[in-house]
Amino acid sequence: MKNNNLVDLGEFGLISRIANAARSGRGVVTGIGDDAAVTALTSGMQLLTSTDMLLEDVHFRRCWHDPYRLGRKSLAINISDIAAMGGIPRWATLSLAIPADMPLDFLDEFTRGFLAMAGEHGVALIGGDTCSSKQGLVISVTIIGEQLPELILRRSGARPGDEIWVTGTLGDAAMGLKLVERGEGEEYLLNRLLDPIPRTTAGIVLAGSGQVTAMIDVSDGILGDFGHIAELSGVGGIIRLADLPLSPQFRAAAAGLPAFPHALALSGGEDYELCFTAHPDGREKIIALMKKCGIEAAPVGIVTSSPEVAVLDANGQPFHQSHQGFNHFVS
Ligand code: ADP
Ligand code: MG
Repeated sequence: MKNNNLVDLGEFGLISRIANAARSGRGVVTGIGDDAAVTALTSGMQLLTSTDMLLEDVHFRRCWHDPYRLGRKSLAINISDIAAMGGIPRWATLSLAIPADMPLDFLDEFTRGFLAMAGEHGVALIGGDTCSSKQGLVISVTIIGEQLPELILRRSGARPGDEIWVTGTLGDAAMGLKLVERGEGEEYLLNRLLDPIPRTTAGIVLAGSGQVTAMIDVSDGILGDFGHIAELSGVGGIIRLADLPLSPQFRAAAAGLPAFPHALALSGGEDYELCFTAHPDGREKIIALMKKCGIEAAPVGIVTSSPEVAVLDANGQPFHQSHQGFNHFVS
């Protein structure tokens, strides 16, 4: 049998190709190949489950996204949801709807990227589904993690007076997207868009720190995502624009623009950093713990009892995105 394209390989040929590349993992009793996967849970832990879909030409474009990094990102954004709860990612399923003319090389590279990300974060691929698509590649990943019930962090625990924190830097992926749309490429910013690194260790460490009251991953910009914490915690907040952590690469790209693109850092999306809240007494401990994880975290605001989420500029004045003449930059 010829195996150099998808039509010759068929559904089961592709599944065994993926299964052969996948490695087993912790707690996997029966992996790919049976009607259902069987996994052994760690005693005393609860399961965390999250799922995300990626649609071609909605969430990614094959002309920008090489298959290796697409595979990595498909899993990374799911791992990020487990990290956001302080969970330990363990198992994943991968469901694909594939156009029949998709080159096998693309699928091999995609699988290689997916499994590399899995290996880096201790995740085992335990199943999925495979079918053909009439239009575009569809990727659906489900991730399952575990954690002790008392350590799981939700969006609902923020209290007035807590500080609002964020890991890493903001706006890099959104800046990367603007560059890629113009056919420009700055390696660091493009990688932040195409190959995000989920904050798995930081999430687990923060969960264990006893300091954090609420947490979320920043996928839609800190303004919107802190807004989810605020809503579910019944609080509001003030975000200080001047304290948002920005990378040197972001600042360099911003220098070439007519106005500073605050909107990209506030609501640009796809940062996959962690936003969390903690009592100010925990400040030093949090900084030290994050340093041990090899990342930085910065306080960027304060939780308030009034329900609004406000952004203040460097002069302490309310910042309105629409007044900055920068809406043309936000798609
Ligand atoms: P069923 O008909 O019972 O749904 P399938 O033929 O779809 O079974 O799948 C056979 C096995 O291969 C199952 O263990 C399933 O979880 C796994 N599988 C199918 N597609 C994928 C995929 N894209 N990635 C990983 N495992 C897959
Ligand atoms: Mg099936």
